[in-house]
Amino acid sequence: MDINQLGEKLLKDDILYDKIPNSERLEFINYAIKQGFNAADISLKNGLNEEKPKKYIQEKVKVNYKKESPPVPIFSEAKLKNEIINLYTEDIKNGVIDGIEIEPEKINFEKVYDVFLLHEYYHILEEKKYKHKNDKKEIVVFEIFKWKIKRSIKTLSEISAHAYARRITGLPIDYIKKTI
Ligand SMILES: [Zn+2]
Repeated sequence: MDINQLGEKLLKDDILYDKIPNSERLEFINYAIKQGFNAADISLKNGLNEEKPKKYIQEKVKVNYKKESPPVPIFSEAKLKNEIINLYTEDIKNGVIDGIEIEPEKINFEKVYDVFLLHEYYHILEEKKYKHKNDKKEIVVFEIFKWKIKRSIKTLSEISAHAYARRITGLPIDYIKKTI
């Protein structure tokens, strides 16, 4: 699945999907992808190594590789305020083994963790970028007289995070395959 298809799929799951005018959906997806790609280009320019992104990220934020399962079913998380990334390695491992059709011995799990790490690191970059600005894409969900209730579309941030990781790793499926 390429990043555009992935974007469409993710956006469809957003609770605000029906509120986005049909004509603007593609524009939203492209916008989100561009955000992720741009951020990736900046990280690469600043010294992030495509093969070993871990080193760069660990210099910027605290990363915990946890063997135990989290209290909620997630694979990874970014604690935005404290700039901490938690990766639940055993859960990721099992999830990947169940989810893709590659024999486990052919998977480089360190690289699998990198993909999750990059994804979460994007969320931290995004948080920093938007802390004082308000240019996240928003749509009006509710309008009465002069009041407009606006909500940002959470999924766009997910699309950007995927785009960020992909710009750096290429296709994740290829990236995680062991080269023997
Ligand atoms: Zn995410």
